[in-house]
Amino acid sequence: MNPYVNIHTHHVGEGINILDVGEGKAWVEKEEKREWIEGQNVFYSVGIHPMKLNESGENLFAGIEDTARMEKVIAIGECGLDRRSPIGMKTQEEILAVQVGLAEALRKPLIIHCVKAYSELIAMKRRTGSSVPWIVHGYNNNEQILRQLLNHGLYISVGAALLDSRSNAFRLLRMIPAERLFLENDDKEVEISVIYEAASAIFEVDVEVLKEITRNNYNKVFGK
Ligand SMILES: [Zn+2]
Repeated sequence: MNPYVNIHTHHVGEGINILDVGEGKAWVEKEEKREWIEGQNVFYSVGIHPMKLNESGENLFAGIEDTARMEKVIAIGECGLDRRSPIGMKTQEEILAVQVGLAEALRKPLIIHCVKAYSELIAMKRRTGSSVPWIVHGYNNNEQILRQLLNHGLYISVGAALLDSRSNAFRLLRMIPAERLFLENDDKEVEISVIYEAASAIFEVDVEVLKEITRNNYNKVFGK
């Protein structure tokens, strides 16, 4: 049986977890002493969230490069663009570009947070010529944007929005090709197994089939 792959989470649970630790080196070091629990496998993503930026961005970058190099840090993020952030889009794009550069240098995938800035995001993907995988997490937007993201080679991760039958994520899930799909529980208080069950009901496939799909994608994207 394949484990659950939880591509983006803020709390560890069953399966393979990519735990978001922000820019926190201290957190990763503390995490190194995490007690091993059967059925749980923990890796990390390190990055600067666009809602946590300050105008300079500078001090946030201090140390992030070293942390990102750690072996158990397997992704850069969540990073991205957020129209709600008090920081202007141009500054956000600059700070994202630095993180794209870091991801390229380390050959680690990006976990992307994007709110109301998808055209800017896609433009950046093109402009940077980035060749590492970009995984848009928590996707819950419309069909047109989903098609654009897929056309530009991005991976799509869907989470707790699947529990709401009126959500875009619920309605559009079947449009995501198996080889681009990930699932997550993010910061929601819902077990990853519940997300997989919801997705399996929508796809009308067994949970084990979904676990195999996301495990294959995980192996491919993270070179496991
Ligand atoms: Zn998150």
